[in-house]
Amino acid sequence: MPTSSFDYLNDELERLRDKGMYRLPTVWSGGSGPWMELDGRLLLQLSSNNYLGFAGHPEIRAAAMEAIERYGAGSGSVRTIAGTLDIHDELEKELADFKGTEAALVFQSGFTTNQGALSVLGPDDLIISDELNHASIIDGIRLTKAERAIYAHADMDQLERRLKENDGRKRAFIATDGVFSMDGDIAPLPAIVELAERYGAYVYVDDAHASGVLGRNGKGSTDHFGLHGRVHVQIGTLSKAVGVVGGYVAGADVLKRYLIHKARPFLFSTSHPPAVAAACLAAIRLLRRSQPLIDKLWSNANTFRSRLQKEGFDTGASETPIVPILIGQPDKTAEFSRELLNEGIYAQGIVYPTVAMDKGRVRCIVTAAHTPDDLTYAVERITAVGKRTGVLR
Ligand SMILES: *Cc1c(COP(=O)(O)O)cnc(C)c1O
Repeated sequence: MPTSSFDYLNDELERLRDKGMYRLPTVWSGGSGPWMELDGRLLLQLSSNNYLGFAGHPEIRAAAMEAIERYGAGSGSVRTIAGTLDIHDELEKELADFKGTEAALVFQSGFTTNQGALSVLGPDDLIISDELNHASIIDGIRLTKAERAIYAHADMDQLERRLKENDGRKRAFIATDGVFSMDGDIAPLPAIVELAERYGAYVYVDDAHASGVLGRNGKGSTDHFGLHGRVHVQIGTLSKAVGVVGGYVAGADVLKRYLIHKARPFLFSTSHPPAVAAACLAAIRLLRRSQPLIDKLWSNANTFRSRLQKEGFDTGASETPIVPILIGQPDKTAEFSRELLNEGIYAQGIVYPTVAMDKGRVRCIVTAAHTPDDLTYAVERITAVGKRTGVLR
């Protein structure tokens, strides 16, 4: 009798292990903050997207607990059947008002937002995507019958060539991350908008790492560049700086109503638990009062980045709280990350194939919750490891 075994899965995992790409999740105890507990040790956390410390904020926790008391643990249904509670509706109204758009539609995560919003493109559409866009944009595009084109990262000449090649044959959509997650650079949105207007294209920007970070009160990259009314689809996450989980599309009311009818994660997957919707609502309201905290996030990030540069580290194209330290080959990058762990710092190494073979990096994310002492500690320990491993000479 033939036996079905999973040996073939194990073989593939062994191949990953040989290439230094095998990694299971680190299991943390306690909450998400600037210092986090791992195996009974407190480590300085430099890999979390909890930019403003909202994940543990007392007002947001209280809103979640109140919602559980009032509504229970789950919503019981998809949004289009019995799963839209008043708290879901209130959150969307708050988001539209916050973003200054006609409407907003919330999805279960940033990932499903891109899947839902992009998958509605059809054979009459062309989607032109920055080569470094997030995996969820790539997967969303894979679900469509639209024609696809890629432009080199932030290369406006190539983007223009793609638009010219199209020559108005199809409706063109330009998709970009607002802030790129591996390099921490900001998309050239004003140039993208200008090209879109010249060629009659639509602009789709994913502000996952810009929500709560860029723009006034963290309204995102459209606000940062003063491009209100000129970006057609703004995606935000509720999972990173907002501190909870979820994603949303902000834009025209007709776009919202279209997505309600067509976006499959919205139609076929249960809505957020009431506690999530309530926590997100409290977080957006808190954001409106949080400019000083956002200023602190940026001053922490700029201090950290310039001090690393002064020590001789290469932080690449970083201009946001995402500060990569470029190391090089995967094994060297892994060694650097391991040495940091010994020094009490958690900063994840990112290697091929996520980035090019010689562009391995330890990606640091600075938050508003880090104190001046935390940043000094981090720069000192990172510099010591840099010298010991020969990254700094
Ligand atoms: C993190 C991220 C997402 C996914 O958001 P989740 O809410 O975690 O699913 C989508 N797009 C970009 C650009 C991201 O960085």
